[in-house]
Amino acid sequence: MKGIEKVIIIGGGPAGVAAALHLQEKNNISCPIYEVRSEPTTLGGAVGIPSNGLRLLQRMGLCDAMMAKGTETSMLRLHSLKGNEMGGIDMVSWSRQQTGFGYLRIRRTDLMDVLSSTASKKCVPIYFSKRLTNIEEKDDKVTVHFSDGTSDTGDFLLGCDGIHSSVRKLYVDPNCTPQYTGISNVFSLLPTSELPPAASSLDALHATLTSDGMFAISPAAHEVVYWFFSREITMPESLDTRDGWEERGKKEVDNLKTIFVNLLGDADSPWVNMLRDVVRKTEVVKFYPIFKIPPGRPWSKGRCLIIGDAAHAMPPHASQGVSMALEDVFLFSSLLTHHSRNLNTPNSRSLESLLQSYESKRKLRTEQMLKTAERNGDIRKKKTSLRLRVNELALSWGLRVYGAVGLDKMGIGQGPLAYDIEDEQF
Ligand SMILES: Cc1cc2nc3c(=O)[nH]c(=O)nc-3n(C[C@H](O)[C@H](O)[C@H](O)COP(=O)(O)OP(=O)(O)OC[C@H]3O[C@@H](n4cnc5c(N)ncnc54)[C@H](O)[C@@H]3O)c2cc1C
Repeated sequence: MKGIEKVIIIGGGPAGVAAALHLQEKNNISCPIYEVRSEPTTLGGAVGIPSNGLRLLQRMGLCDAMMAKGTETSMLRLHSLKGNEMGGIDMVSWSRQQTGFGYLRIRRTDLMDVLSSTASKKCVPIYFSKRLTNIEEKDDKVTVHFSDGTSDTGDFLLGCDGIHSSVRKLYVDPNCTPQYTGISNVFSLLPTSELPPAASSLDALHATLTSDGMFAISPAAHEVVYWFFSREITMPESLDTRDGWEERGKKEVDNLKTIFVNLLGDADSPWVNMLRDVVRKTEVVKFYPIFKIPPGRPWSKGRCLIIGDAAHAMPPHASQGVSMALEDVFLFSSLLTHHSRNLNTPNSRSLESLLQSYESKRKLRTEQMLKTAERNGDIRKKKTSLRLRVNELALSWGLRVYGAVGLDKMGIGQGPLAYDIEDEQF
C-alpha cells in the first residue's frame, strides 16, 4: 500500500500555509495551496500568540522573524472608567518559565508576510482566485474542482478555509452553521507618530470596561498601536449573511467615534484623555463580527480533515486562534508519520481510526479554549452603571489578591499555555 505523498490544502491563511510548510519539512509531502482571494489579504487587526503557539513557531524556525515584526506585550493593565489604574497581570508569567516563550502581539498581515515569504523560499505553491465547487473521493484519492474549470487530485485533503469553510459546507459537515457570538469588534491600527506621546510609550495591553463594551489598546508593531472596542450587538433577523454583516459594519463604524467618546463621559484623567485623543485621531475603522463553530461537530470524512478556524473557530478573547491552528498542524503531521510507519504492518491502524483519535485529542483541547474565550468575552457584554462599578471593584480586588498571594507564580490559569502538542501520541 502506498502512503500519503500529496496533501491538497484549501485556504492560504495561517493554518493552510503553516500546514504546507510543516508537512513538507517533516513528512516530505507536497502540499499545493488553493486560496479563494485574488492576492494575499491585507485585512485584519492584530493577533495574540501566547507561549504554546510561540514554541511551535520556534520549532518551525519562524519565531525570530515574527518577533522582529511584532511586539512582546504580556502585561495586561486595567483602568477604571474614571482613569485610575486598577492593577495589572503578566498573562504568561508562569508559562514563560515553563516553556521559555512569552506572548507576542503581531499584525495579522505581518504574520501572513512571514508565512507567505517562507512558503515562497521553500517553493510551496500558492494558487490564488481558486473558488472550490466540488470534492470527490475515489480509489484512495481526493479530487477538488474549482469554478475556473481546473481541478487537482491528491492523497488527502486539508480544509484550512476559515470560519465560513467551503470544505466543511460542501463535504465534511454541510449541516454546520457558524454561530454569531453576539459580540463584534471594531478596531484600528494607527502609527504612533499621529498620536499623543503617551500612546508611543505603551508597553502593555491596556483595557477599560464601559457599560457598553470593552476598549483596549496595545502596541502591535514598531511604532504602531492597535486599538479595539469589543461590544455586544444584537443580530437583526433579516441580516444573517456575511455580506449583511459587512454592510451593517459600515453603518456601525460611522457612529463609533461619537458613541465611544460619549461612553467615556466627563472623566478627566491622563488615561481617559489619551483614549479620547486616540479615537478622535482614528480615520479608518474595521468591523469584525465574531462567530464561532459550535463544539461537537465532525471534522473529518474519508480522506478529508478540516483544521484551524474551519473546524473550531472561537472568539479571539483567549488569543488562541493562531495557536490552535498550529497545534492542529503539528498533530496532523504526527498522525501522518504514525500512518506511514504503520503501513503494511500486521497491526496497522486504519486512516479512519487515526483521524478519530486526532479528533478526540483536539476536541478536548479546543473546547477548553472555547470555554476560556467565552468566559473572557462575558465582561464585554452590556451592563448597568452599577454592575460596571461592581465589576471594576471585583477586578481590582482580584488582581491585587492574584499578585499578593503569588497565584501567577503557581501557574493558576496558565496551565493550558504550557501544553505541548508534541507530547500527544497516537
Ligand atoms: C481577513 C481576516 C482577518 C482576520 N482578522 C483577525 C483579527 O483582527 N483578529 C483575530 O484575532 N483574528 C482574525 N482573523 C482570524 C484569525 O486569523 C484566525 O482565527 C486564525 O489565524 C486561524 O487561521 P485559519 O487559517 O484557520 O483561518 P483564517 O485566518 O480565516 O484563514 C482562512 C483562509 O482561507 C481562505 N478561504 C476562505 N474560503 C475559502 C475557499 N472556499 N477556498 C479557498 N480559500 C478560502 C481565506 O481567504 C483565508 O485566507 C482574521 C481572519 C481573516 C480571514
